[in-house]
Amino acid sequence: MNAAETKQTRPGGSPGLVIAHYQELGLKGRNRSFFERTLASNIALQLDGVPGARAKPIPGRLIVRMDDRSCEPQVIDSLSRTFGLSSFSPALELVGPDMESLTRTALEMADEAEFSSFKVRARRGNSSFETSSMQINVTVGQAIKDHTGARVELGKPDWTCYIELTSNRAYFYTRKIPGPGGLPVGTSGKVLTLLSGGIDSPVAAWRMARRGAAVDFVHFSGQPFADPSSIRQATRLARHLAPWTLRSKLWIIQFGDVQSEIVTSAPQELRIVLYRRMMMRISEALAQREGAHGLVTGECLGQVASQTLPNLTAIGEVVETVPVLRPLVGFDKLEIEATGKRIGTYDISIQPHQDCCVLFIPRRVTTAARSVDIAEAESALDIHALVHKAVANAEVLDVGLKPAKAASGIAEG
Ligand code: ATP
Ligand code: MG
Repeated sequence: MNAAETKQTRPGGSPGLVIAHYQELGLKGRNRSFFERTLASNIALQLDGVPGARAKPIPGRLIVRMDDRSCEPQVIDSLSRTFGLSSFSPALELVGPDMESLTRTALEMADEAEFSSFKVRARRGNSSFETSSMQINVTVGQAIKDHTGARVELGKPDWTCYIELTSNRAYFYTRKIPGPGGLPVGTSGKVLTLLSGGIDSPVAAWRMARRGAAVDFVHFSGQPFADPSSIRQATRLARHLAPWTLRSKLWIIQFGDVQSEIVTSAPQELRIVLYRRMMMRISEALAQREGAHGLVTGECLGQVASQTLPNLTAIGEVVETVPVLRPLVGFDKLEIEATGKRIGTYDISIQPHQDCCVLFIPRRVTTAARSVDIAEAESALDIHALVHKAVANAEVLDVGLKPAKAASGIAEG
């Protein structure tokens, strides 16, 4: 095959192409196609804002094509937030490869790099190409060696030429950019995250999305007694997370009236635990109505007085129909903060805002709320009515990525 017959999409030229990989471990049967379809549709949504970029699944991988390679940084940025991807690489595509065109393309790539040691890593996935991967490594490697004078180094060479063969195509790349790992959002069901304006809960939501959960949020504001700053804060956080969580709603609950009832009926050291129990009940009712299958909090063992084991028990026990998930329970505060900084929520979280729990703030908080005391304090509350009213009056904001072009962004496989 001569150069004219070889269609190439070259890094440095236009158009461009990125090949994306995911972990295939544990993916079987129908699970696998669900995983792949969800991943492809998530990438399509991610690429919605990138003109001329579209995703196409091929066996075991995804190909993102760009009409103009100048969009590559945007595509890389989007893919780096797409949970489920293990790595991705700007690549060059060769249609109908044979040994000669494989070698020629590898030599052209070698000409564009500077290295004194290298290796060739060929992989045949679902390919009818008759030469073995090992033989491709040897033949192409020898040609590069002769052409450049560089030595072969199988450990950590300066330069690696990856060649992936699929049916009737070869993809060449030299750079593997790590993906964010995890599972595609939407493959693990839906959860409702209790999102304060603080540091922990946005990190908890991000961790659940990383495990494939679709994440909606619920925020409790101290209104009408507090100003709306915590709502703005929660909205900014939820929107900031959208490139990872993709399709999310934020429910806002006016919680001030519930708090003032608790304040009049309960001893002050129990207030925080009772606020949390009411938040849990309201969130559970909302989750049931909205089809979410778990509640998520940013609670962490021992971080504050309300997060001792007895208090976590007292808070969690009011939820009967879904699990209460606490993905940060075993992390140190510094670790949680480090994640918040890495994903960019920390700088939002530390902005001043009026959290509902600073309203009527008690001087003392019990570290071991007793059931009898809780039962007595709550006997003065019409819990059913409070929950019903809070859920009925919940307001909702769409905080997801906008899906304007999503449906057309995904090409057929
Ligand atoms: P965060 O930084 O997430 O606020 P925190 O360490 O400050 O966590 P608390 O304020 O005790 O901990 O809250 C524990 C958890 O309860 C939060 O992580 C969050 O999931 C939930 N929560 C607390 N306040 C609110 C609120 N106003 N709206 C929604 N959820 C809340
Ligand atoms: Mg807080």
